Amino acid sequence: LVVLKGVNKHFGALHVLRDIDLTVHRGEVVVVIGPSGSGKSTLCRTINRLETFESGSIEIDGQALPEEGKALAQLRADVGMVFQSFNLFAHKTILENVTLGPTKVRRQRPAEARQRAMELLERVGVAHQAEKYPAQLSGGQQQRVAIARALAMEPKVMLFDEPTSALDPEMINEVLDVMTDLARDGMTMIVVTHEMGFARRAANRVVFMSDGQIVESAEPEQFFSNPQSARAKDFLGKIL
Ligand code: ATP
Ligand code: MG
Repeated sequence: LVVLKGVNKHFGALHVLRDIDLTVHRGEVVVVIGPSGSGKSTLCRTINRLETFESGSIEIDGQALPEEGKALAQLRADVGMVFQSFNLFAHKTILENVTLGPTKVRRQRPAEARQRAMELLERVGVAHQAEKYPAQLSGGQQQRVAIARALAMEPKVMLFDEPTSALDPEMINEVLDVMTDLARDGMTMIVVTHEMGFARRAANRVVFMSDGQIVESAEPEQFFSNPQSARAKDFLGKIL
């Protein structure tokens, strides 16, 4: 569903993505881990075309990433993204946050978008907050709204970039639980996270990045119990 081949990107002199080859199949959950600065966020942003790249190719569901214009907006709608900071629209209600994309980009009728949004808010456990504003919700609740908002676009794949790292500990699990359910329901997901419990429970594959390269790619059990590279061993030694 998502295919990267030989993707290279620089920030000035910094070679931030080096020959990235990555294939994520439909329904697969891939967790990306690696040291700070290894290029994990840049990888997500490049897949979503928030960043350009210099060589290689990226395909989503068999389509090359367009450079710009309507085609890009359509394609971006197929790729849901949830960031570390929740990025909700502060002056819109929770419900409006979720219905905005579907009515504007997907051209859903307002009543239909509202009904679908309420179902999604129900699913992530914040339906009773629908008329509130983001600032009136906890961080964990806001992040669950951000997930509902992304899902409302009916994306083919969901990208998560450290979705729980800005949250207080007691709120982390409520977000991870929503993500785990999503994974079980068959959503294709690429998840940057340091939550190794989530990786063990929900991931089909763990990808380890270091210095802009994919150094290892393995099933979670195999990766955690028997990392192959010195860099992965060193990294796991620090975080586990
Ligand atoms: P972290 O775990 O800290 O989030 P990361 O693996 O997500 O790290 P990136 O944010 O992808 O790492 O950054 C990779 C490298 O690219 C870093 O050295 C960073 O300083 C650099 N970088 C990221 N964004 C930019 C930018 N817009 N301009 C210049 N350099 C950047
Ligand atoms: Mg990052």
